[in-house]
Amino acid sequence: MRRLLDMVFSERCALCGEPVEYGRASPFCRICQVKWESEKFQLRSFDGELAAFDFPSIDSGRPPMRVICTVAYDPTNHDTAASGLIFKLKHNATRRVIDFIADELISLLVSALPDIRDGQDKSELIVTYVPRRRESIGQYGYDHMKLCAQAVAKRMKLRCIELLKRRGSSSEQKQLGRRDRIENATTSIYINKNYNCNGKTIILLDDIVTTGASLNACTELLYGSGARLVITAALAVTRRKL
Ligand SMILES: [Zn+2]
Repeated sequence: MRRLLDMVFSERCALCGEPVEYGRASPFCRICQVKWESEKFQLRSFDGELAAFDFPSIDSGRPPMRVICTVAYDPTNHDTAASGLIFKLKHNATRRVIDFIADELISLLVSALPDIRDGQDKSELIVTYVPRRRESIGQYGYDHMKLCAQAVAKRMKLRCIELLKRRGSSSEQKQLGRRDRIENATTSIYINKNYNCNGKTIILLDDIVTTGASLNACTELLYGSGARLVITAALAVTRRKL
């Protein structure tokens, strides 16, 4: 009976494709879950601190943008748990994948930011995300980081607001170098003028940070519209940055 339920209702492991046990919260089977945990652990080994990566800011007057990340990601290696999870997130995200990633992002945020953990004045804290390219939303039917940001906000009892929007067509960042990525990101992403960021602390979420161009462009827009502090967190950092 259990086996039958697994076959009918369960989804497949994000890495190995085996059915995931019925009722399991993770999108990984038990074996691949261990792999996922070990990938995370490697990145957290800097003096036991959470991994954080600095990227030069577009505005040279601002200190480098610091991004906290859960896991390292090598786009050329499809055998990693991170790669399986990211593929599923972008192409075929289920509720389980979204909730799992939301939990990972929350544990990253609360470990890194004691202020959030202590729950001070949540009305000043807003969750937002780097918007997905419109072409990709058309192709896959959803904006994965919007879903993740909504799940994070719901669990943390914060507001999720679409502070950033994307213009009609934009190039895929992964095909561009850093300078072109910044140019592409700054011209394609714009601020949602219907909302006032003045004095707010913004939690800005993204899937993968490579050169930091998209996050950087978004951060500048948020500061430009009056944000007090922008906290950037990504599920993964591309390994070549390490
Ligand atoms: Zn598996």
